Amino acid sequence: MNRKMDHATWMERGRRQKRALRKVSEKIKLGKMTRGPCIVCGLPKTEGHHDDYDKPLEVEWLCMTHHRALHKILREDQKCHDAITGLN
Ligand SMILES: [Zn+2]
Ligand SMILES: [Zn+2]
Repeated sequence: MNRKMDHATWMERGRRQKRALRKVSEKIKLGKMTRGPCIVCGLPKTEGHHDDYDKPLEVEWLCMTHHRALHKILREDQKCHDAITGLN
């Protein structure tokens, strides 16, 4: 793993990530957003993936397999974690 990020940047990324995930889970709870099927294979059990935490409502829904696969392609430090798995 090649992580050049300093601690402050790392912490800030974590904060933005949490904010983005919270926004999505709120919208889902309010029924303003729905969890979609995997955009690759159509499996209904999905996790939300953010390309950009500054755009919290731009979520891609991916099953666990394809989410893992995507993160293998993306740089290791772009992990968005799977904090919204298991909601509703
Ligand atoms: Zn899939
Ligand atoms: Zn992701």
